[in-house]
Amino acid sequence: MIFAYDPVRKLARLPVQLERALVNARMIYEVLDTEPQQGDAPGAGPLAVEKGNILFEKVRFSYAEHMPVLHGVTFEASAGCTTAIVGPSGAGKSTLFALLQRFYDLDGGRILIDGQDISRVTKHSLRSAIAYVSQHPYLFEGTIRDNIRYGRPDASDAEVEEAARLANAEEFILQQPLGYDTPVGENGVTLSGGQRQRLSIARAIVRNAPILLLDEATSALDNESEAKVQQALERVMKARTTLVIAHRLSTVVNADRIVVLEEGRLVEQGTHRSLVRKPHGVYARFYRMQTERGENLLDEAPVDSDA
Ligand code: ATP
Repeated sequence: MIFAYDPVRKLARLPVQLERALVNARMIYEVLDTEPQQGDAPGAGPLAVEKGNILFEKVRFSYAEHMPVLHGVTFEASAGCTTAIVGPSGAGKSTLFALLQRFYDLDGGRILIDGQDISRVTKHSLRSAIAYVSQHPYLFEGTIRDNIRYGRPDASDAEVEEAARLANAEEFILQQPLGYDTPVGENGVTLSGGQRQRLSIARAIVRNAPILLLDEATSALDNESEAKVQQALERVMKARTTLVIAHRLSTVVNADRIVVLEEGRLVEQGTHRSLVRKPHGVYARFYRMQTERGENLLDEAPVDSDA
């Protein structure tokens, strides 16, 4: 394994939960392009995204020596399409997101975007091409406007407000004491889970990146909030290459492609229609279980529970 430069690597001895929280925070912060050119290959040039086609090719990775987490994962997330990643906890779904953003170096294999190996382009250009909507959106100290603008610091007020409208956030923003200038974060107003999610979606919209990484919420929102978040997500996913760690059955069923991971191995991939027809398929079994239980949230491991 190449350890190299990455400061997160130096935290390798920290408890896993803590380190994972730090990586999640970095996914937000560093998508903001604050990191210098540290760790770029000599002569690395900018990534040029034409279509936004992503290829994971025999990707191998371990956080610690002799404990592989991904064992040669290959799949394509086609340009402009939605690829749903499903699998039990610990299967390696979030690790794929971290690797695509180069928070760690691979042990083997390659990740290509429009044919360009991401290890050979500048991190700055790579991360500029990606927007990340997390399951637990982080709000910084500052106003609502600042929080949306984190997606792209040079966005104009008009662009921030347009993003808020598209994210179905404007209505609740205007109900706050100072509208867009209302402070949020620890010392500001408290927002509901659904409202935070819509701010995070607005942040992604204003970023206007061709690749969207979405870690779908596992917790249920109230029906109205749920519908507004879903509608906002559909808008931001449109015409972007979206990789979603999917927790909702409707997201999986509607995805252009489903990738099923189990213990760091890709065990099945295809469309819902093709996978659901496999008589002994992992996905087909999982889908049957969910629909028999009448559940919409994929709250439990899809592949290891053989009910
Ligand atoms: P979940 O649905 O619970 O988020 P996941 O499918 O996203 O799970 P990952 O978070 O990618 O899985 O984790 C894959 C494996 O790597 C797990 O065994 C996990 O404990 C381990 N892991 C994740 N992050 C780290 C880390 N920073 N250091 C060491 N091990 C880690």
